[in-house]
Amino acid sequence: MRESILTIPITDVFEPKCGCPICRIRDTLEQHTIEYIMGAAMMEPDVRIETNKAGFCKEHFEQMRACKNRLSLALMLQTHLQELQKHVFDEKKLFETREGKNKKTVEKVSKITCDCFVCNKIEWGMSRLMNTVFELYGKEREFRAQFAEQEYICLPHYKMLMKRSETDVDKAHRNEFRTACNELVKKYLDELEKDVSHYCKMYDYRNTGKDADWGNSKDSIERAIKFLTTR
Ligand SMILES: [Zn+2]
Ligand SMILES: [Zn+2]
Repeated sequence: MRESILTIPITDVFEPKCGCPICRIRDTLEQHTIEYIMGAAMMEPDVRIETNKAGFCKEHFEQMRACKNRLSLALMLQTHLQELQKHVFDEKKLFETREGKNKKTVEKVSKITCDCFVCNKIEWGMSRLMNTVFELYGKEREFRAQFAEQEYICLPHYKMLMKRSETDVDKAHRNEFRTACNELVKKYLDELEKDVSHYCKMYDYRNTGKDADWGNSKDSIERAIKFLTTR
């Protein structure tokens, strides 16, 4: 995988104060990876070997389908399906009735159905970029301030940050880091709860008029789902 996919200036990602900054890192890596495989890399044999084996998850198939280059996707699907024919559903082995044969096929299929080339690359890139985040946090006061000024941290990324803080945030700043994470989650959770409650109240018969004030509640369902799942 080309290192250029990792070229993401972390302080720039933390500049806008909207949404979860870790989601923004993920989105950028995701975008780079999708562009990469839908472009010339798709024809590179080493990339094809990987995509043929791993395939893609539903989310990333959808993102690839939304790209203009449908031929790229078709060619990748073609060799991925051929790989399945050759290595998983091989006729000679598949129809042998010997005990254990189908078990192996099912094992291979379970592995493929939870694998994804793009997810793997994101995970690979994330763990590297997070090292930079923790390093900056330990070294730069401005970055610590920038971190605390984020709009929020989503729940799955809160879990990841808190877990990694045990080993990756230097001791001198660990408490400050965890307090910042807790505050960013708590503040947004309270805001969301208020907005979703307001949304529910708007369905009350007294609030259905033209002048009903929806406040910030209109997109609260989408925002709550994003907070809870990163998507
Ligand atoms: Zn997030
Ligand atoms: Zn995926």
